[in-house]
Amino acid sequence: MSNNPVYTYHEKQHFNLGANSRKRKIGIESIRRFDHCALCLSLARDAQITHRGIIYCKECIFADLLSQKQEIKKTKQLLKQLKQKRKEMDEGAKAVQRDEAVEAFDRAQRVGGGLSAGLKKVEKTASDTQNNTKETPKLPAFWLSSLQPNLTDKEALTDRIREMESTPLITMCRQASPTHPLALKDLHSVNLKYADADTVLCSGCDKTLSNSSTMFVTKSCSSLLCKYCIDTLYLPSLQCPKCDSKVDKEEDLIKVSVEGTGFAGGGGVMLKKRTGTIGLN
Ligand SMILES: [Zn+2]
Ligand SMILES: [Zn+2]
Ligand SMILES: [Zn+2]
Repeated sequence: MSNNPVYTYHEKQHFNLGANSRKRKIGIESIRRFDHCALCLSLARDAQITHRGIIYCKECIFADLLSQKQEIKKTKQLLKQLKQKRKEMDEGAKAVQRDEAVEAFDRAQRVGGGLSAGLKKVEKTASDTQNNTKETPKLPAFWLSSLQPNLTDKEALTDRIREMESTPLITMCRQASPTHPLALKDLHSVNLKYADADTVLCSGCDKTLSNSSTMFVTKSCSSLLCKYCIDTLYLPSLQCPKCDSKVDKEEDLIKVSVEGTGFAGGGGVMLKKRTGTIGLN
C-alpha cells in the first residue's frame, strides 16, 4: 500500500535500521504522513498519539518504550557497579598512600633521625651515589610513580559515570525532534476515519485531512477533528461534533504533529538527491 513511489521497500527497511541515526530522521521527515507510525512508517495500527501529537502503532510504541525500560535497567545496574568500583579505587588508593607513607617514614627512620632529616639524607645519598638510587629513591617520585596508573583509571571511570548520569534515565519519545520524556500514560488512542487507505477524514465534517491540515485529537473520545470543527463547533459549545458528548475544557485536545512537512516541501529537490545517496549506500 505504498503511496510514495520514491521509496522502495528496501529503502524503507534501510531507514528502519538504527533508530536514532540521521538517515532515519531524514527518512521520516521526508516521507511520513501524519497518520503513519513514526516508528514503522506504515499506516498506524491501533493508532496511539503522544501528548505532543506524534502518532504510532500501539504495538510499535509499546515495544519501543519496553526496550527503553530494559536499557535503562541495564544502565542503572552498570552505573551502580561503576560507582562501587570507583569507591573501591578510592579506598585502595588511600590504603596504598597510607602504606607508602608508613614505609617511607620507616625508611627515613632507618637512615636518619626524624622524617625531615631522613628525607634530606635520602635525597643526598640518591644524588651522591647513582648505584644507590633504586634502593633509596626520592620520596615524591616514589609516590607519584605508584599512584599514577590508578589516577588515570579513576579519571576515565569518573568521566564514564558522569557521561552516563548526564543522560536522563527515563523513557523518551525518540522520534520527536527534539526528543522529550514519554511514558505510557502520555499515550492516547486515535480513531482514524479512512475513506480509503490514502485518505483520512475529519470525524466531524468528513473533510479530507493531510499533513497540511491543522488537526486535533480529543482525549475523551479519541476522534480526529479538523481545525474548522474545533473552532466552530467543539470550542464554542464545548461539545464533540462526532459523539455529542460534553467536554470539560481545551485540555482535552492534542494537536497532531506534522513536523517535517515544511522541510520536505521546502527542500524537495535536495531531499531527492539525498534519497539517491541513501539508496546507493
Ligand atoms: Zn508502527
Ligand atoms: Zn472537520
Ligand atoms: Zn466525541
